[in-house]
Amino acid sequence: MKELAGVAASAGSGVAPAWVQQNQELDIPAGKIDDAGAEVAALHAAIDDVTQELNDKSANAEGELAEVLDAQAMMAADPELLEGAESSIKEQSAPAARAIIDAGEKYASVLEASESEYMAARAEDIRDVCMRIARRVLGAPPSAVEAISEPVVIAAAELPPADVAGLDPKLIAGIATEQGSRTSHTAIVARSLGIPAAVGVRGLLAALGDASLLAVDGDAGVVYVDPDDDVRHELSSREEARRQRRGELAARVGDRATHTTDGQRIEIAANVGAAAELGAALEEGAEGVGLLRTELLYLERTEPPDEDEQLKLLTGFIEQLGDRRLVVRTFDFGADKPVPFLEQDPEENPALGVRGIRTAREHPELLDTQLRAVVRAAEAGGRLAVMAPMVATAEEAEWFVERAEAAGAREAGVELGAMVEVPAAVLVAGALAERLDFFSIGTNDLTQYLHAADRQQGALAYLQDPFSPALLAAVQKVCEAEGTWVGVCGEAAGDPAWAVVAVGLGVAELSMGAQSILEVKAAITALSLEECRAVAAAALRAPDAAAARRVATEALP
Ligand code: PEP
Ligand code: MG
Repeated sequence: MKELAGVAASAGSGVAPAWVQQNQELDIPAGKIDDAGAEVAALHAAIDDVTQELNDKSANAEGELAEVLDAQAMMAADPELLEGAESSIKEQSAPAARAIIDAGEKYASVLEASESEYMAARAEDIRDVCMRIARRVLGAPPSAVEAISEPVVIAAAELPPADVAGLDPKLIAGIATEQGSRTSHTAIVARSLGIPAAVGVRGLLAALGDASLLAVDGDAGVVYVDPDDDVRHELSSREEARRQRRGELAARVGDRATHTTDGQRIEIAANVGAAAELGAALEEGAEGVGLLRTELLYLERTEPPDEDEQLKLLTGFIEQLGDRRLVVRTFDFGADKPVPFLEQDPEENPALGVRGIRTAREHPELLDTQLRAVVRAAEAGGRLAVMAPMVATAEEAEWFVERAEAAGAREAGVELGAMVEVPAAVLVAGALAERLDFFSIGTNDLTQYLHAADRQQGALAYLQDPFSPALLAAVQKVCEAEGTWVGVCGEAAGDPAWAVVAVGLGVAELSMGAQSILEVKAAITALSLEECRAVAAAALRAPDAAAARRVATEALP
């Protein structure tokens, strides 16, 4: 047995015979072509076929997978991509397959150069689309994963989402890839199909040899080549226990509003970055949306979305939410989330650069359009709140409130808030609270800025612990500001032990990824507010993050 470590990408575990995705090298002609007209026509036909194929797959898919495939279909049909390829066919006599791959590579390398893991993952999507078009031009056979007909664990260098889309989840016990991160599309799609997955498993293919069985532990991000009986037994009993517990929790707390045992209402909401995620979150028992990451909806766009388009999107959310609250975060563009329609100078320290409300101040027309869409959604009957990311000063909060009021937010009953993710905002929370209705603590950024430790930097993971004394003290300070309700929308909110501490500190709303909702609901409903306060006090007294985590974990039911 060999044990290989990677990144935990999709929960659960599975054991089955290994199915290795062979690297299908394309033999792309190198020389110059004579008939540019014929090459261009072949390119157009291939693009049409691939766009159609991706749209068909999307129509048969659900949730995030459908979103990913739609986005890829849009990439395939992108006029600028076509224009780039056409001009190298006409001007440099390049063969169509080479021209489209090179045209895609230009976009992909720009995306890849961004510091954002998310954007780098989009580079792979573009490469996959262009490779599909090139295969079509050359008449090469489609990918082989679609021929899988019996239960397997797939091992691959990488697995493009359009390949995953053709899979029958009942036949795929797990996915393991050498490339990828938690936010790569293989990971997102595996989660949406409920297939256990480990990605970023270095040396996976070389370690396989003639292995017969593969086990994927998607909770730990570990792959076992030819797992022994002990590992197989452990994984299968853990999987069975997980299934049973989720079923039991869903029946007990799934569709109920969350209260502590002594009646304190705590709203358990969902973080959403794509329209299709909401359905899954509501099924898990989300009581609203505590963070709509609006920028994620438009990252690949070359034109900013207009008011009507944004309104349509928000109305779609509201139809699903009914009278449950939708907290819209205004665009957090800039720095590590660059968008093609915003020109930004390169920055030495993007995380400390022009992002969030700072971008809005440079482009107030973008913010105003977004605020108008929010107000109109509220006028149409939605329960809306809107908050600005990266607020650091009372003056910024004031500026945001003035623009929201000018857009008609007060009359429409839209609550106005700020994310607290910059340490300065914690220190001046009292002053911010005078103008705002609520705060939502973004623990991901707040932890990184409190410790001056890049959240993407694996080597500094020990400084990203949400139980750190500095973060807990910051949450306490924010909750002391009078006149606002306080939510938390960073990843920490989805950790049941941390959530108990937050409630004890005075947090009223916790917003998280759909898969955390049931466990957090179960933890909060099992304790009284007094008990949560006692746990929070003990966690605040703890000398370090590990000790704070221990006291909080011991308090869990
Ligand atoms: C955060 O910083 O905690 C947050 C929720 O925002 P994002 O992760 O989108 O930066
Ligand atoms: Mg943030």
